[in-house]
Amino acid sequence: MYEFGRFFLPGPTEVRPEILAAQTHPTIGHRTPELAALLSEADRHLRPIFGTTRPVFISTSSGTGMMEASVRNAVRRRALCLVNGAFSARYRDLVLGCGRECEVYEVPLGEAHEPEEVERRLRAGGFDALTVVHSETSSGVLNPIAEIAAAVRSAERATGEEILVLVDGVSSVGGMLVETDEWGVDFLLTGSQKALALPPGLAFGTPSERLLERAATLAGRGLYFDLLEYAQHWEEHQTTATPAVTLLYALSAQLRHIVAETMEARAARHLAMAESCWSWAEARGRRWGLRVMAPEGRRSPTVTALALPPERKGSVVAARLKERGYTLATGYGAHRDQALRIGHMGDHTVLELELLLAELESVLGEVE
Ligand code: PLP
Repeated sequence: MYEFGRFFLPGPTEVRPEILAAQTHPTIGHRTPELAALLSEADRHLRPIFGTTRPVFISTSSGTGMMEASVRNAVRRRALCLVNGAFSARYRDLVLGCGRECEVYEVPLGEAHEPEEVERRLRAGGFDALTVVHSETSSGVLNPIAEIAAAVRSAERATGEEILVLVDGVSSVGGMLVETDEWGVDFLLTGSQKALALPPGLAFGTPSERLLERAATLAGRGLYFDLLEYAQHWEEHQTTATPAVTLLYALSAQLRHIVAETMEARAARHLAMAESCWSWAEARGRRWGLRVMAPEGRRSPTVTALALPPERKGSVVAARLKERGYTLATGYGAHRDQALRIGHMGDHTVLELELLLAELESVLGEVE
């Protein structure tokens, strides 16, 4: 029998049965006042989750769609791309794929970027945007976005160039407090299937005023991800094309749940899960050579990557846990066997996580 609380992938995350059930609402026309009202309410609830007073657009796409939107609408010629794992590398690839140039500031997997180095590179001049991943899901590293955005502002003052800050918050938004406006972020995006604990298929993004002004001067924005089209339609809470209406019902139900929980309590619950995972790794996981990949002070509250010693294979441990009814992720891509990744995000609780960790401990003992 299905039991909630055993599925710990760092996306897609587990969706509560009542949210899944909300999708069975009959489909309605997307140009109706009912749907506009639903989108308007969603926008109102999403703004505080994004830490903004500006509109949050809803796209029927995965998170990568909104990443592409940010590049097409914001990068004029050349970006500084901060790479520290698989998803930040995807941002770089998108910049190149959209025909823009970039300089890459890369640090090894498991490390965060230094704001001072960001500023040093930008001060050399010739940049109009920066791409960065807030919570790098492939390593569990949390980048210091407030400090990086401040470094960008300082470089802007020094060079007189406008440099837009584009942030992938796919595994941070909804799992921690983010401050788009206060930090001075020009675009923050996320996907539905991570800390918001919704099914995959929706993405969300909020552009600054100056990003939209930049977009108006750029050719080649395309059509599906043209943010000026989004902005124009959003005035009436309309979408540019047919949205995934059934997913919007799930969104509506989940946003009401998040409002009732409050974002502060949700962030505190995520941090408590993360801390319990880190202290387990330090107190118990160490016995089997496990180690939290991200350094202290730079750890994501939503996902932990545990580096494994060479004699333990991520795929073997994950398969054993699967036999016991638990799902977690191996390392990402080429690092598959070198790590385990636990997504402690969405609607999970500390207790559910502790049960997973107890099971993991028992599996590690077996394969010793
Ligand atoms: N960015 C981050 C940090 C992610 O974790 C992911 C997916 O895991 C993506 C981008 C890509 O999102 P999607 O698969 O929704 O396109």
